[in-house]
This record gives sequence, structure tokens and C-alpha cells, in this order.
Amino acid sequence: MFRSLLLLLPLILLQACQPKPEMTRIEGRTMGTFYAVTLADPFPGGERALQSRVDALLLEINREISTYDPDSVISRFNRAQDTRPHPIPERMAKIVAQGIEAGERTRGQLDVTVGPLVNLWGFGPDKRPNKTPDQQAIAAARERVGIDKLELSRGSDGQPLLAKRRPDLYLDLSTLGEGAGSDAIATLLEQAGVHNYLIEIAGAVRSQGHNPKGKPWRVAIVDPSDQPGAFQAVVTPKGMAVSTAGSYRNYYERDGVRYSHIIDPVTGHPISHKLVSATVILPSALEADAYDTALMVMGPEKAMAYARDHRLAAFLVIKTPQGFASRHTPEFDPYLAK
Ligand code: FAD
Repeated sequence: MFRSLLLLLPLILLQACQPKPEMTRIEGRTMGTFYAVTLADPFPGGERALQSRVDALLLEINREISTYDPDSVISRFNRAQDTRPHPIPERMAKIVAQGIEAGERTRGQLDVTVGPLVNLWGFGPDKRPNKTPDQQAIAAARERVGIDKLELSRGSDGQPLLAKRRPDLYLDLSTLGEGAGSDAIATLLEQAGVHNYLIEIAGAVRSQGHNPKGKPWRVAIVDPSDQPGAFQAVVTPKGMAVSTAGSYRNYYERDGVRYSHIIDPVTGHPISHKLVSATVILPSALEADAYDTALMVMGPEKAMAYARDHRLAAFLVIKTPQGFASRHTPEFDPYLAK
């Protein structure tokens, strides 16, 4: 026993002499929501340098794709009632390309031209309507919606160009913004030589390496009941992006009916099925942010079938008479913390 204690002593001393785990954490607001960045490593220049670089980056993204900023590139594009090609920044082109690709792959369940319907139902930058929209208004808004009405190309000099096929098309990249922001911060950190981080912009999470305790990062899929500390599952992302979309936070109730901010582009109505959240794990948060919303539009059965057929790591939370139940694809299994 004495011998083993002696053997252990250098280890105990070594640990006692080691500095406390380094941790850097910044928080802020962006895109109408919150963000947080946690590092297990110091950031060159310290926390203030990190905060100012992250805030500047998020501001840049907002200036490109925020429909809430009347001077952003997207708002100017939406206001231009024409069909000519408009030069757009490279990063915005990547986001649009992801929107178009996911739109085509999900047969229009994700549709970045759904904005007129989003605004009509009161979930965009416009004021919330006093009464629910009538069928005529929904049909008129639906006329303007469709990924085929948007054209992304490049000029001879390589400049990304975006054109509408009808002048009143309205682009809404809100569903992809948080994922794009998380990916951009991850690139910033990697370029600064930081490789142990967790980035959260609302439901879009990117992580790499280990946490300040040297353990894998853990991300909770919260329980829609919103009881403090209640969660449906805990995920170890293993360097992948985790994105969750849900209908249980952003909604309003009128005459006993609950209207969610996720719109089915086919019916023109907010979704009304029992799927309350969809979590998707993919290499980039931009991609994961596209597919979580698409699954939310599909509803529980179609979303599960789609995720299975496309071997997507997906975790669904479904409302039941007793509360909530979860289902996930086999591809999600390796990420569930035991
Ligand atoms: P997600 O499920 O990821 O996306 C849902 C959103 O996507 C809806 O709110 C709608 O806009 C859109 N959508 C709905 N149905 C579909 C569909 N079928 N296909 C495609 N898209 C669909 N909000 C504010 O209140 N104030 C702000 O200042 C503000 N600024 C923003 C700036 C940026 C750059 C972005 C990207 C968003 C901003 N928002 C702002 C919007 C707000 O944060 C949104 O609620 C959020 O982006 C939606 O993300 P989510 O994760 O909640 O839901």
C-alpha cells in the first residue's frame, strides 16, 4: 500500500501543480437570438479580442442575409422588383446554394423563397396580423413561392449572381443563418489556432476537440416541456455539427389554435402535426440547419422515412397524449451519450 501511494504521489503532485483548466467564454446577441462560444484554450489576445472578432463576423453575416435589416444585401435584393442578376457576396452565395440544394433534395419542403408566407403569418420582420390570413391571401403568397423561381449563377469573372424569375420573389434565409454563423465562427477559431471549442447560435451547434475538463463536449436536446434541466437526450457531437429546429418556442396562439413559425410551402399554412423538434447531425451546421427544418415540415412519419432513406443522423421528438416520445435513426446512435 505504501509503495502504491509513493507511485501515485508524483501524479497527485503533478495534478496539484497544474494550472486550473483554461476556459474562455463569450456570449452575445445576434440574429434575434443569443450566441455563446466556449473555448478550452486561450484565444490569442484574450476574451475581449474574441468577442470583438466574433461580433464583427456576425455583423457581417447580418449585413448580408438579415431580412430584419432594410439595408442588408438580401433586403435590397428583395426590394428590387426585377429579374436581372444581382452580384452577391461569396458567403451568401454558399448559403443560397445550400438552400437550393436542400430544397431540391427534400422536394420543396425546405424552401428559401417561403418568405411571403412567413411574413403573411406574422413570423417575419413585418408586424403580426390581427387575424389569421384568408385563403385568397395565402394563395397569392404561394404564387410567389418556389425554388425554381430563383437562379444562382456566376459571371465570367467568377462573381456570384442571384436573379429572380419573377420580380416579386422574396428570399428568406432565416432558417440557415444560425448554421452559417456557427460555421463561420468555427473557421475563425481554427484559423486562430484554437481547436477545442463549442459554438452555439440558438439551435445550431458546432464543436471540436474537448471541453475545459479534457472531456468530450456534450450537448443536450432539451425537453419541449421546458421544465428546468429536463432533456430528451445528451449528444457527444465528435466534431460534427448538431442543429435542432422546433415548433415549441416560436409560435403564437389565436382562438385556441397554435401557429408555428415553420410553414409548409405546399399548404401555405404553419405546420400542425405532432413533430415538435428535429435534431440533425452533419459535418457542417449550415447543412444540418437546412435539414432539421425540412424534417420539421415533413411531420413525424415522413421525416423518419426520409431520414432513414437518406441515412441521416436524426432525432425526432413527438407529442403524445402522455407527453413526449423520441425516435432516432441508427445513424444517430453513435452520438448518443451513454
Ligand atoms: P429554423 O427552423 O431554423 O427556421 C425557421 C425559420 O425559417 C422561420 O422563422 C422562417 O423564417 C423560415 N421558414 C419557415 N418555414 C420554412 C420552410 N418551409 N423553408 C425554409 N424556411 C422556412 N429575428 C428577430 O426577431 N429580430 C432580428 O433582428 C432578427 N435578425 C436576424 C438576422 C439573421 C441574419 C437571421 C438569419 C435571422 C434573424 N432573425 C431575427 C430571425 C430569427 O432569429 C428566426 O426566428 C430564426 O432565424 C429562425 O431560426 P430557428 O432556429 O428558430 O428556426
